[in-house]
Amino acid sequence: MCGIFGAVTPGTDAAGIAALGVFSLQHRGQESAGIAVSDGDQLMLYKDLGLIAQVLDERKLPSLRGPLAIAHCRYSTTGSTIWENAQPTFRMSRGKALAVGHNGNLVNTRELLARLEGGKTRLPATTDTELLTALLADDPSGDTVQALLNVLPHVKGAYSLAILDDKRVIGVRDPFGFRPLVLGRIEPHDDDPEGKRSGAWMISSESAAIDVAGGTVVRDIAPGEIVILEEGKEPVSIQFAPGNEKLCVFELIYFGRPDSYMLGRNLYESRRRMGVALAAESPVAADMVMPVPDTGAPAAAGYAEGSGLHYREGMVRNRYSGRTFIQPSQHMRQRGVTVKLSPLREVVAGKRLVVVDDSIVRGTTTRQIVALLRKAGATEVHLRISSPPIHHPCFYGIDTQIETELIASTHSVDEIRDFVGADSLSFLSIAGVLQALDLPYDKFCFACFDGNYPVPVPYDTARHKFVLEDPDGEPVSRGELRAAAPTEVPHA
Ligand code: AMP
Repeated sequence: MCGIFGAVTPGTDAAGIAALGVFSLQHRGQESAGIAVSDGDQLMLYKDLGLIAQVLDERKLPSLRGPLAIAHCRYSTTGSTIWENAQPTFRMSRGKALAVGHNGNLVNTRELLARLEGGKTRLPATTDTELLTALLADDPSGDTVQALLNVLPHVKGAYSLAILDDKRVIGVRDPFGFRPLVLGRIEPHDDDPEGKRSGAWMISSESAAIDVAGGTVVRDIAPGEIVILEEGKEPVSIQFAPGNEKLCVFELIYFGRPDSYMLGRNLYESRRRMGVALAAESPVAADMVMPVPDTGAPAAAGYAEGSGLHYREGMVRNRYSGRTFIQPSQHMRQRGVTVKLSPLREVVAGKRLVVVDDSIVRGTTTRQIVALLRKAGATEVHLRISSPPIHHPCFYGIDTQIETELIASTHSVDEIRDFVGADSLSFLSIAGVLQALDLPYDKFCFACFDGNYPVPVPYDTARHKFVLEDPDGEPVSRGELRAAAPTEVPHA
């Protein structure tokens, strides 16, 4: 996933606002954080493994001077969780520095590697972002925007980018707009005594971060668009390719903050409506509805509303634990869940529960949640999931790259119900998701649900997370990475 944020704040340092912006995007990636700033002449970059508040603390921010900044938080989809792979990436290009923050995942990594001096260049990091940065820096034009125009036609996959050179912050969204990116501003205003943060422009993965940073959202950056922000100037827009929006629907189901807006839809409201649709599609006799906290809460509220059942909180979540799934190893994930969630015995004992969550990926967390609730005395556990079963891996920015990791790709709904130990299990249909969003199917990428990949994914190691750690290695077997034929999609 990853969160990206960029700001141009004339007359004042941009590091603070960029740090605040990316702090509001922490849910998009918790492995590493980083910031790059420019004073109009020199770039400075600071990055490390860890959470934003740990990496960008107030002792470091004052030394990051200049009115231009980009910031990033990482959730790995290509390359391991090592310091070198933290972002923004940094490279010199004909005497000038360039920094890049990326949200997404490229699918033709091998092909791009071959373009770099015939594939001989050794990269310091093993991410597709490092590769993209090297391609931009190597471009003979020596100009960041021209380099983008030259390089992007060869780049396939998902990319929302925040780029910094000495004079500009540049936002880029791939022609399918798989990942979100919005433009925001802080209007100059008379009652700002110090004139600070006035007339600022920002780019952000999500609208909520623009709100938190004190700005207003101007618009979504369009698929296939480059937006150039320069001190004291209005943004300049270049449409580098025709756009054909296929926003990741999982952003609206799970990933984005509930207070963000995507495609004009508020994410809390969208999820609540998914819960209402789920109650209509899959009713069940029960005593109460409860969410899997936190992300299941809006859909659980909708389910309660749609079903007329009472809504209660049947579990508490340790607010200091991150999202379990986001931590890269299975071992860490398994340990994570009990640290994160505890059942409320008083609420669930003796009750028939409808437990609402937004998704099942591997099934391991869900299984533990059901066991915890039964141990706390629940008499029945009916699981209701406000998205369809995830049958297919995502190659555009979510770390589910092998089908065998996805329980729904190897098990039927009844088998999943037995594995997680629920009394009943239902998923929301694609038609139900679309009904809740009140938008047409073609606006979204539904590939993880129906196998309809908007950008073809080559059957080789280009789809392998560690492709750049073993670029000469044997391709991963076709069986492991097989993308199944698209299933029939019910259009709303
Ligand atoms: P599991 O039962 O192990 O499949 O985990 C399901 C839980 O993972 C649900 O509560 C989801 O909210 C959460 N989840 C789904 N996708 C992701 C993701 N990409 N990163 C982190 N958590 C996720």
